[in-house]
Amino acid sequence: MKNLQHLVHKLKGMMKLPELDSFGKVLCVQPHPDDADISMGGTIAKLSQKGIRVYYVTVTDGSAGTRDESLVGKKLAEIRKKEQEKAAEILGVHELLWLDFEDLGDYTIEQVREKLIRIIRKIEPDAVFTVDPFAPYEVHPDHLRCGMSTAQAVSLYRLPKLVPGTSNHDVTAIGFFNTAFPNTFYPIEQEHLNRKFQAISQHKSQFDETSLQVLFSYLAEKSRAYSPVEGQLVEPFKVLPPVALHVISEAYML
Ligand SMILES: [Zn+2]
Repeated sequence: MKNLQHLVHKLKGMMKLPELDSFGKVLCVQPHPDDADISMGGTIAKLSQKGIRVYYVTVTDGSAGTRDESLVGKKLAEIRKKEQEKAAEILGVHELLWLDFEDLGDYTIEQVREKLIRIIRKIEPDAVFTVDPFAPYEVHPDHLRCGMSTAQAVSLYRLPKLVPGTSNHDVTAIGFFNTAFPNTFYPIEQEHLNRKFQAISQHKSQFDETSLQVLFSYLAEKSRAYSPVEGQLVEPFKVLPPVALHVISEAYML
């Protein structure tokens, strides 16, 4: 097993991880309106500030995110779209794209993957971010399907078998948030964290004042806890080159 560490070290050298600041365009694929704001809102605020174009793709319409039966469906979907638009404006998101699959509906990974392949070919992002579908204990079906379909799209977007045509563009990285295996700790400033909180506050259908404060204190604590430097704020990600998404069984250690 001593040689395993050597192999991992070698793979890390071979698969040079790109710097987040070096990207021109970033695509964030989220299961519901609010997920990217919560998990990488500080990073998005900072990247946008640097002139990097951030695109959001929201896979579902968010229509199931309530205990109020009278709101479930179209009514809530419309409310959540508006909330996401306001939040995205605060973070400086360039464009919002909606796939409008039914929240907690019976759509498939393949259906989402096809749409994402078309989007990747059209937008040509340098990096694609999404929820980590390999996170232990993550059970939400929309999150699992979103993460897996995005990872598959990033791995297979050039193949005409899945969607006619191909692409000469190189996606250089996939970044997973809500991950148990972070390898990248992107530094943000207090102003970015404040902006993230302001963005999250727009999702009024999802949080009352008490749950919002609990979430903020978790996120503030988290941004300090993962930092390798005392006093620095970060957002943690698992960033991999797309080539690591197939056959490389050591990817979780990279
Ligand atoms: Zn979600």
